[in-house]
Amino acid sequence: MRRTTGATVVTGGAGFVGSWLCQRLLADGHEVWCVDSLATGRRENVAHLLHDPCFHLVLADVCEPFEVPGEVDQVLHLASPASPVHYLRMPVETLMVGSRGTTNALDLAERKGARFLLASTSEVYGDPLEHPQRETYWGNVNPVGPRSVYDEAKRFSEALTTAYRDHRGVDAVIARIFNTYGPRMADQDGRVVPTFVHQALAGEPLTVAGDGSQTRSLCFVEDTVDGLLRLAASDHPGPVNIGNDRELTVLEIAELVRDITGSTSTVAFIDLPTDDPKVRRPDITRAEELLGWRPTTPVREGLSRTVRWMAGGRTQRATA
Ligand code: NAD
Ligand code: UDP
Repeated sequence: MRRTTGATVVTGGAGFVGSWLCQRLLADGHEVWCVDSLATGRRENVAHLLHDPCFHLVLADVCEPFEVPGEVDQVLHLASPASPVHYLRMPVETLMVGSRGTTNALDLAERKGARFLLASTSEVYGDPLEHPQRETYWGNVNPVGPRSVYDEAKRFSEALTTAYRDHRGVDAVIARIFNTYGPRMADQDGRVVPTFVHQALAGEPLTVAGDGSQTRSLCFVEDTVDGLLRLAASDHPGPVNIGNDRELTVLEIAELVRDITGSTSTVAFIDLPTDDPKVRRPDITRAEELLGWRPTTPVREGLSRTVRWMAGGRTQRATA
């Protein structure tokens, strides 16, 4: 076994970001325990890792207490629906995984004496009144709006993580991840990049919400994973924004996807979802200063890789 460092637990490891994290951790010589219920993840995301003796897939709902054998250095807690389509379909489950699931993941880290990383989100800033968003901003979240099941679950997770760090001595850190995209996002996941790519490749109209002037800042998944691992390896408590500071309107994203795919799809304007944030761009000064990290993949290149994966055989390893 090439076990050069201790084991890492990745909750939500069979999801989009989690599968890339597991892959990178294995490549770096870690033993990996991937704990996932497959609520929104897929076994095929990690199928190419199953042969590795250092990779262990545990099918479990983290809302119930869970355990892994042996020593654990890090618990990276990603388990949670993440796409608006998913969390609106699973509202109570989303709140439960943010509360019970995060409690169980923190308890595991406490028992094992492990570093804990919470995969929080830019959604804690809600529809932000500060732009770009710095970690010091407290956010503008509607606590009873449809998105609150996700936003407030993550805000509770942040509070719980802080309490375990300050009062129970868990070495914990909060990462606030901004919109991340790349191969292995599911077509039906509803998020903007896989939706537009799927529509462009199928020659269907690209469904732009509102007038498409709202902005997002897209970070390629390999960059996000690198930022998360650097943060986990640091001794900083966070929160730290992990995202790309290149901001695009949704209409610009649609144009880029059309251009890269060479599609003749038209644009169909659809209703803007309730409480859809108008702008979103991270201030990543803290990540740059603390971790020496900033994303390196240009959006056009990352989108091209995503298009190739969605248009081609979707071989998980081909994108490694
Ligand atoms: P994803 O849906 O692909 O992955 C989430 C994983 O968690 C899935 O494999 C799912 O099966 C698993 N899961 C959900 N509930 C569970 C439960 N109760 N027990 C065990 N496993 C469970 O989403 P993703 O985009 O990979 O997001 C991963 C994490 O990163 C999430 O916590 C999300 O909030 C956070 N995040 C992602 C983004 C992004 O743009 N992708 C942005 C901000 C934050
Ligand atoms: N969006 C869109 N068409 C779609 C899906 C999403 O215009 O088919 C918009 C959505 O309204 C939002 C942006 O794209 O303004 C990003 O949406 P996504 O669901 O990817 O992430 P989030 O809203 O959580 O940032």
